[in-house]
Amino acid sequence: MRVLIGGGSGFVGQELTRLLRSKGHEITVISRQPGPGKITWGELESSGLPPCEGAVNLAGENLMNPLRWWNESYKKDLFSSRIDTTKALAQAIAASHSPPRSWVLVSGVACYKPSLTAQYTEDSEWTPFDLLSKLVKEWEASALLPEDVAKTTRQVIIRPGAVLGRDGGAMKQMLLPFWLGLGGTLGSGSQPFPWIHVSDLAGIIAQALEPSTDSAPASPQVFNGVAPALNTNYEFTKELGRILGRPTVLPVPGFVMNALMGSERAVVLTQGQKVVPKKTLEAGFQYKYPDLTSALNEIVKT
Ligand code: NDP
Repeated sequence: MRVLIGGGSGFVGQELTRLLRSKGHEITVISRQPGPGKITWGELESSGLPPCEGAVNLAGENLMNPLRWWNESYKKDLFSSRIDTTKALAQAIAASHSPPRSWVLVSGVACYKPSLTAQYTEDSEWTPFDLLSKLVKEWEASALLPEDVAKTTRQVIIRPGAVLGRDGGAMKQMLLPFWLGLGGTLGSGSQPFPWIHVSDLAGIIAQALEPSTDSAPASPQVFNGVAPALNTNYEFTKELGRILGRPTVLPVPGFVMNALMGSERAVVLTQGQKVVPKKTLEAGFQYKYPDLTSALNEIVKT
């Protein structure tokens, strides 16, 4: 199968590319930069969709970019880098004479309102309540295909929690302070911490790209891209400290996180949601790293 991956040069995209290539698939990345095996977003717009059986969008300005101060220009980039690229791919798919069988958008769990008690599945109703949930709403809406195209192209939305892996995401920034013994719970620590190992997220995306014998449903199928273990930030912190053999006695209070990161962004770490991958499990996905111990051991010890 030929797969087109918007933002495929990033953390999740590289893992997905490795996995798909190992299964014999051909990958073309859509990037801001030209290069071998890549097309640019400009080329997608001017030349249309290259021949492909699957398309995925992973492009987006990094929400945890430590080099960017939380301000209006950064927020604008978070929105436009996701919505404009998703719209461009959806429009190219809709205009194609030979649209792909599957079209997968990877968004996020920020659509679910943080709560210590509520459990969210893919069936949970939600309406935007803050900046990041508004972002998810607009982002997912921009992926929608016209009705006639949706009859042949299966639309899938995957909502991951924090993606854990050695080469990117939250772990890349956390490992050094934890190694130095400076790790600690964030905020109260009792908040849920939805997470997934990057290898499992790549597996869920790859499964969504596989041809299906069922006819494509009119609206997108949603899969929560989280591990089935429901952990808190405290459990994550203690397990990472234990595996590294380092103390984790220095909590970072919520107000410090808010001051450092901006409260609209710090919310993803200081608050959280219990997200259940109900449909992902029902679809038969087999996790390689269903619990924190196996996931963190793989990340820290390899
Ligand atoms: P990355 O931060 O690695 O970025 C992916 C790619 O997006 C980059 O390689 C880059 O490709 C492209 N990109 C970056 N900034 C911009 C921009 N301003 N405009 C257009 N394109 C840009 O993302 P991840 O791989 O970590 O995540 C993939 C997707 O999953 C993202 O949409 C992210 O929001 C979502 N997600 C990630 C989570 C995580 O913990 N990592 C958690 C939940 C959701 P290039 O330079 O080639 O153009």
